[in-house]
Amino acid sequence: MTFKKFVKTVFFIEIIKGLMLTLRHFFSRAVTRQYPKEKREPFPGSRALHALAKDEAGNAKCVGCGLCAAMCPSQCIYIYTSEGEDHKKIVDRYEIDVLRCVFCAFCVEACPFGAVVLTDHFEYSDYSREAFYYTKEMLLDNWDKYMAGPKGKEYFKKFWRPKSEDFGLAVSSPNKSVQESSSELQAQAGDRKAP
Ligand code: SF4
Ligand code: SF4
Repeated sequence: MTFKKFVKTVFFIEIIKGLMLTLRHFFSRAVTRQYPKEKREPFPGSRALHALAKDEAGNAKCVGCGLCAAMCPSQCIYIYTSEGEDHKKIVDRYEIDVLRCVFCAFCVEACPFGAVVLTDHFEYSDYSREAFYYTKEMLLDNWDKYMAGPKGKEYFKKFWRPKSEDFGLAVSSPNKSVQESSSELQAQAGDRKAP
């Protein structure tokens, strides 16, 4: 044992230093937040509950191409489509099993139309598993609740790249070539069915 270490041991230097630190923090302002009474604004770009985006006319932007479901590593997105008038694809059901989601945002990045988003709403606990199975209607409702107005636009502008315009594709009004390419990709991925 060195002399320095001997002195430290005999005079309890380390213990005194520790107590001094405790004492210093004892009189400083507490940083503990009294959640849920005290809430903090989520950080910009937070990834929480999903929503399906609507355009200015209030229609769902999703065209049912299936890219998001194909990219999802948790395979928790289920899309059911049918053929409407003029051979137009109709999205009958769009469902997300949120409990399986890992919030990677691959679905948001994969979507050519900015049709699926991760909002910053994180307080959605419940007592049943069923409550976390979000249907198309619930997801569209989430858009109105948490992302409507400039918030949704800002969110996309700031935090999500690449976007469809990076590839020369339209964002809000999908053109024919996009739908065609989407159909090809969907044919490769195949419609995913719920278990
Ligand atoms: S955030 Fe990731 S895991 Fe969750 S639905 Fe999207 S792609 Fe799937
Ligand atoms: S990638 Fe976008 S447009 Fe295609 S099915 Fe998913 S949310 Fe809809």
